[in-house]
Amino acid sequence: MDNDVKIKRKLFSTKLCPRCLSPLKMATPLAGWVTPAEYYCEKCGYRGYIALEKAE
Ligand SMILES: [Zn+2]
Repeated sequence: MDNDVKIKRKLFSTKLCPRCLSPLKMATPLAGWVTPAEYYCEKCGYRGYIALEKAE
């Protein structure tokens, strides 16, 4: 389970919290497949579908 999450996170670009600009975690395991991707921020508690994309 943990390995699976790490692999998925590498495939997508880094998402940042719109409130505090911290890296976001996926709030739903199947995000982007059956449901829109929902993100969760550990730092400020933000949870939602809006995420800033880090420009590489
Ligand atoms: Zn945040």
